[in-house]
Amino acid sequence: MTLKFPLIIVGSQWGDEGKGKIVDLLACQADYVVRYNGGNNAGHSVVVNGEKFKLSLIPSGILHNKKLFLAQGMVIDPKILIEEIELFEKRGVKVDLMIDPRVNIVMPYHKALDAATEVWKGKKATGSLHLGIGYCYEDKNNRSGIRFEDLISPDSLKERLKTIFPLKKLRIEKIFGQKFNLSINDIYNEYFNYGKKLKKYLGDVSKTMQETLFRPTSLSGLRGAKSTKVLFEGAHGTFLDGIFGTYPYTTAVYTIAGGVFPYVGLQPQKIYSLGIVKSYTTRVGNGSFPTELFGKTSEKIREVGEEFGTVSKRPRRCGWLDLCLVRTAIRLSGFDYLSITKLDVLSAVKKIKICVAYKIGRKVIKEVPAMMNEFSRCQPVYKEFKGWKKDISKIRKFKELPKEAQIYIKFIGKQLRVPIKIISVGAERNANIKNF
Ligand code: GDP
Ligand code: MG
Repeated sequence: MTLKFPLIIVGSQWGDEGKGKIVDLLACQADYVVRYNGGNNAGHSVVVNGEKFKLSLIPSGILHNKKLFLAQGMVIDPKILIEEIELFEKRGVKVDLMIDPRVNIVMPYHKALDAATEVWKGKKATGSLHLGIGYCYEDKNNRSGIRFEDLISPDSLKERLKTIFPLKKLRIEKIFGQKFNLSINDIYNEYFNYGKKLKKYLGDVSKTMQETLFRPTSLSGLRGAKSTKVLFEGAHGTFLDGIFGTYPYTTAVYTIAGGVFPYVGLQPQKIYSLGIVKSYTTRVGNGSFPTELFGKTSEKIREVGEEFGTVSKRPRRCGWLDLCLVRTAIRLSGFDYLSITKLDVLSAVKKIKICVAYKIGRKVIKEVPAMMNEFSRCQPVYKEFKGWKKDISKIRKFKELPKEAQIYIKFIGKQLRVPIKIISVGAERNANIKNF
């Protein structure tokens, strides 16, 4: 059985599940790759022939020379996008990109507000990277944003800045008591140049995608699917969803599969989804983490799994696989397929645990509760497994995995009841056990 398209890839934990690698792997089967949420706070790493590519805005399909789309649900820091484009152009890769005019642009005052807020929050800081993403979304929702269409039109850029900027400056200086030295002209001059460079990528992603996925087959208005294969790349992970995630330690966007419809601008329709499940759990920043490990095992997983932020370099918190998280992610996004990643990392530990349920007092539950006050009281119920302590990174067939690793994977499959299509056993593009 092959994987069906259109296909959306979603992280089932707190991000960094290895989505970049799986998108890169599946992009070779796709024609178009679309990124539709988040900004450059979501980092992906893809390894090809030993070379590591770090991407934050450009979809991972770039390494297969696919047509790439940045849909309106994203926010873009133009400086970072231009840097990523130039990185590939210097290597002789043509960047075939379309950016939706409705995309919101990250401005210098978003970053300044972000930094000022974190200082103000002190110990309760959310661990934001001061990239201004949250504040850019705030403006988007409050209709005070600067969109891609403004960035590429000098008159409109100046007009929007004149309306929006004075209030931002007041807020940074009078409310947060921080200095903000840039003037409207400074910002205009810098951003005008970004606009000039990016203008050629303008296109209506919503309309293009809708026409790609569906075409009228008869005058009766019936529609039939076209054969162009579209891969939607979701950033972050389910529990970083701004509403269904572990609020308030989340991003500002929907990260669940359904977000793809408004964020691209698509009619409701069947889009297949593949959930990425890392064989253990990691989390960046603050917030409850029921299966978190401390001490030697945690350090071992962090070191072997290279669990340090792609963008931030911060050490990620590490813990055992938590099926309550994944079950909830399956319910929220309706995964048709799963991919288990980084199984090779667990070769480093002797005994492995999986959290199968939570206890809150005497109550046993199997999903993440709706209320975060309850989530913070959840105690994990574990099932213990023997480790395999063997290098599995060269294995390409399930039957060739050590018995203990087979038992581990089969248990996950049985508990979650969604077909496991890819088991990733190394960072390299071809280090996979494929079942499709
Ligand atoms: P994403 O944000 O979900 O795309 O994940 P990141 O790229 O932030 O983090 C995943 C990291 O794990 C990257 O450095 C990948 O190169 C690496 N990686 C992905 N899959 C595997 C795997 O199966 N084994 C190992 N050892 N590393 C992997
Ligand atoms: Mg990441």
